[in-house]
Formats: sequence, structure tokens, C-alpha cells
Amino acid sequence: MPKKSAAGWAPATRAIHSGEPKHGLNAPVTTPVVRASNFNFASTAELKRYAEGKSKAYLYTRYGNPTLAAAEAKIADLENGEAALVTASGMAAISSALLAVLKSGDELIATRQLYGGAFRLLRDVLPRMGIRVHHVDADLEGVDRLVNAKTRALFVETPTNPILRLVDLKKAAALARRHRLVSLVDSTFGSPVLQRPLDLGFDVVLHSATKYLGGHSDIVAGVVVGSRERIQQVREMMKFLGGSMDPGAAYLLIRGLKTLEVRVRRQCQSAMTVARFLERHPKVARVHYPGLVTHPDHRLAKRQMSGFGGMLAFDLKGGLAAARRFCDRARIFLLAASLGGVESLIVLPIYTSHHRLDRAELAAAGVRPGSVRVSVGLEDAADLLADLRQALA
Ligand code: PLP
Repeated sequence: MPKKSAAGWAPATRAIHSGEPKHGLNAPVTTPVVRASNFNFASTAELKRYAEGKSKAYLYTRYGNPTLAAAEAKIADLENGEAALVTASGMAAISSALLAVLKSGDELIATRQLYGGAFRLLRDVLPRMGIRVHHVDADLEGVDRLVNAKTRALFVETPTNPILRLVDLKKAAALARRHRLVSLVDSTFGSPVLQRPLDLGFDVVLHSATKYLGGHSDIVAGVVVGSRERIQQVREMMKFLGGSMDPGAAYLLIRGLKTLEVRVRRQCQSAMTVARFLERHPKVARVHYPGLVTHPDHRLAKRQMSGFGGMLAFDLKGGLAAARRFCDRARIFLLAASLGGVESLIVLPIYTSHHRLDRAELAAAGVRPGSVRVSVGLEDAADLLADLRQALA
């Protein structure tokens, strides 16, 4: 499918029109789902051209598909990247991107505060492949000392899951460039509405598109964005690992992306309202939200992000028992993993994303037994406050 030029359009317009041909007699206004695992060739001459790398024809959906390509063009445009790859999940995006860069004998430096699944991939799987992983805190203190001739990449996540610490993206990209490391960032919590790491010098942006990009809790999906050359490398690795996106998921991702901006802006507003309410509540020990002046990264968030996001966390004074009581009493907030959808969700990280981390690892991640993570959805903010009030009473 031809990519419609988005030059000069603001992100909200690009989210709707980029990557999708919509003009012409009988052209469908939405992108068709090409529900086919494979594609036909007109002749052996065409097949030969494909084999020689001289044709852009589609062969097999794991390698590429018109619906996937439309989603990829749209996301690449939203992130200001040259190219994108869509994958079966955020973890497929992270594993394919890291393994495209790293090989046995290489070393990786990563922030300690990562989504639990990514943390365990680095802790339990990469070392089995001969890849050594070093961790630093979100302030990146110590990177210079850890770099050696074997270090290949720097992997960070910002804002972090679940306690919303920020990594200074400009500083991280500069550090990586100085040491000739490939820089990768999991930008799931920010979304391209709030931050565009490629503009700040990052090589690769990763998303769990299950979250804000999809936005409706109905797909599991991932995205990798970067230069054409880098994305081609990741695509080759993804083809081996097998984490390709289903065309039906790509359709829902495209549909979700069209409303990304309005959803995220409204979620930022409601999250601020919720954070201020919780901050004043006598049973709450601490609220983690970058929009609050009390947050350690508030100034950085103001500089680096164009909004503070729809995610927050809070610690209850009564610890795990109080956190469980709150979650069991909530009516609008659903007790569920994942985030970034239209429904407001609550979850206890110690039972979900940070399950199977030991005490020291939990402490390093800033997760307490009484920590509750909140994903603010699109319900009326007054109804959300009323639900929090009754659940905390
Ligand atoms: N990155 C972050 C920040 C996440 O929160 C998650 C999932 O919760 C992932 C990556 C993994 O994405 P997926 O569940 O789509 O594989």
C-alpha cells in the first residue's frame, strides 16, 4: 500500500491519515484486513525477482502483509521514525530488537526499573545465550564505569512500570552515542503523544502496543521503530523468532491509533485529578505521579514529556492488607493486569508484573507490598473519585 505523505501534518491528523490510502473511487475509508497467510505470484519470473530481492511483493504474512504495513507506516510516522515493525506482543518487540543487536559475548546495560517481563528476560534468558547484563538506576549513574569493549547496547524504560520514575532521554542518548552503543527505549507508558525518543537521539523505540497504542484492551501487540536499516535487522530476527502480528490485530491497532491523541490527553487530565485526590487521602502514604510537584522527576517530566500520562501508583499506609481491601471494594476500577485501555484498572504489582522478584529486586524497583498501580481510563473523573472514596473508606 502506498504511504500517504504526512509532511506538515500535526500528530492527530497523521494518526488518522498516515499509512492508509483513502482517496479514489470505491476506496474504502478504513484499511481492509488482508486475512491471508500467503500471497500469489503471477509467474515464476515474478517469484525469481522476489528471490533476488528485486521485488517488494508480499510472500508470507510472517514476513509482511499489507494491513501490517499500514500499521507500520502509521506508527513510524507518529514516532518520527523512518520505519517500524509490528509484532505479536510487546515482549516479541523487545526480544526481537535486543537479539537483533546482541550476540553471545556481548554486554548490555539496562535500567533496573523495567517491566517485570523484560527484567526477567534480561535476568533469566539473555545470560543463557552468553549475553551479560548490567543494571543501573533510572538516573544512569555508573554507565561510564560499566562500559567496556564488549558493551553493545543501552536499554531503558521511561516512565517506568509501576512507580513512574523517568529516565532523561537526552542524557541517555548522548551517553549511548559517546560509547557507540545502540540505544533502545521502552516508551509504552509515554506513547508518541507525550514523548518522541527518536527526536532526542534514540536509535530504537519499543512499545507494548497492547496498551495505549491499541487502547481498548482487545489486542496483544508490539512495535519497534527506528531507521530503515535497523528495522530490517529486527524484522529478520523476528522472522526467526516468529513473533509476527496477526492481520486482525493490525486492524484493531490501526483503529486504536486514530484516537490515540484524544484518549491520552483525556487520560492525562483524569490521572492528575485522581493523583491529587489520592495525595490528600489520609490512608495513602505516597502517590507516584510525575505530574505532582512532590515527584522526584517532576521537573524532568515537564521538560521531556508534553503531558504526565494516564498511569500512576500509590502506596497504602496499611500495606498489603489495605491494598487488597481497596482492590476488592473498587467497583468502576477493574482489578486487572495491563493498562492503557478505556477502562480504569487497578492492580497489585507484587502479584502481577513484579511477581517472582525477590525482596531486594522489589525494593530496587520501588515496589512495596501495599503498592497499587492505577491505569486511568476514560470514565467520568467525578465517578472515578467517588469509586476511590468508597473503596478507601
Ligand atoms: N513494556 C511495558 C512497559 C509493559 O507494561 C508491558 C506489559 O505489561 C510490556 C512491555 C510487554 O508487553 P506485552 O504484554 O504486549 O508483551
